Amino acid sequence: MAPPPAAAYILADMNSDSGATPKMFDPVIEKTALASADAAASVGPKSLVGLTREELTAAVVGLGEAPFRAKQLFHWIYHRGERDFAQMTTLAKDFRANLAGHFTVQRPEAVRDETSADGTRKWLFRFADGQEVETVHIPEEDRGTLCVSSQVGCSLACSFCHTGTQKLVRNLAANEIVAQVMAARDALGEWPSPKSDRMISNVVMMGMGEPLLNFENVKKALAVVMDPEGIAISRRRITLSTAGVVPLMDRCGAEINVNLAVSLHAVTDELRDVLVPINRRFPLADLLAACRRYPGVNNARRITFEYVMLKGINDRPEHARKLARLLKDIHAKTNLIPFNPWPGSPYECSDMDTVEAFAGILNAAGLAAPIRMPRGRDILAACGQLRTESQRRRRVVAGAASAA
Ligand code: SAH
Repeated sequence: MAPPPAAAYILADMNSDSGATPKMFDPVIEKTALASADAAASVGPKSLVGLTREELTAAVVGLGEAPFRAKQLFHWIYHRGERDFAQMTTLAKDFRANLAGHFTVQRPEAVRDETSADGTRKWLFRFADGQEVETVHIPEEDRGTLCVSSQVGCSLACSFCHTGTQKLVRNLAANEIVAQVMAARDALGEWPSPKSDRMISNVVMMGMGEPLLNFENVKKALAVVMDPEGIAISRRRITLSTAGVVPLMDRCGAEINVNLAVSLHAVTDELRDVLVPINRRFPLADLLAACRRYPGVNNARRITFEYVMLKGINDRPEHARKLARLLKDIHAKTNLIPFNPWPGSPYECSDMDTVEAFAGILNAAGLAAPIRMPRGRDILAACGQLRTESQRRRRVVAGAASAA
């Protein structure tokens, strides 16, 4: 069955109250929405897991301890992965007791833990306020990649993405982003931080959410993940994927400078407006200009352009030729992603010979175009299949209770 033209879905969605309503990106609205969404209440003693060096130091000082003690504590938490203060044997006994009296080193609860027939593993993590995200581990022969979420839900509503059907609930705090890496390493038994043969050698910010719309927290979290005295995953092994929040791509280059991946998916504004609605705000020309400006890009460190293969929508030979032309002056590689279906998804995946022919055209034009073999489809862990039941809590209106 051939799906109706993608535009039909967008228009249909715009007229309904379904969760998939695409909306124009408005930085002011986003900012306000996200600021309030950030204020996730947490209960009980605070976990130190995921805190930055500075926050950890502040916590230690807050206990009346000397700031230098935070350095060893950082090592215990992020290099050793210790989950019990009592076992942090190089710390003074009174310091351990003081910590245990006020804090925990608790991880988010894994409320689901599934393993695919191909070894891909997906966790559903629940945070202190009950909100949930998914995190995926993709083992490969020579490496292992952890796909980390940055938001609960997403505001971008890309029409082919399952997460896009879930409204944005809230940003993840920096500690909640780091905690996904910590909890995955617990589950994989990867402590202390090994030097080689890691199960998690690479991190991709390609889970739920748009990482650049949670810029400050993602930046803080990645600094912790990269810290050589802790988890120590180097910036060369971290990739941030964006749907194209152009102004923040410049900040990403200047302030985080991990590898960049861009979810392109279409070669005309007309089609990209439909597939990736943020394109209406930041069209292709602006997006590609931001890619040309991205610092540290060269032949050995290319920008990855993700291109989902949608049958009859964006997979014709002329699309491939135009794609090669668009990227010819950028150090680029493409990643062709066979469309991963999800319940109710409005598209179909291109036939494999179409995908191969598409890759052939790109290769002939000198553009690397590996086809990303879907991983974890059977447990809905592949690209674009993540979604949780989390919804934004109703706001308690002041006075409403007394008026009732
Ligand atoms: N918001 C960011 C991070 C998500 S990365 C971004 O858009 O880049 C997830 C990747 O999977 C993106 O490239 C996304 O476009 C792609 N994707 C989404 N739904 C998909 C699906 N159903 N099949 C294949 N890829 C999909």
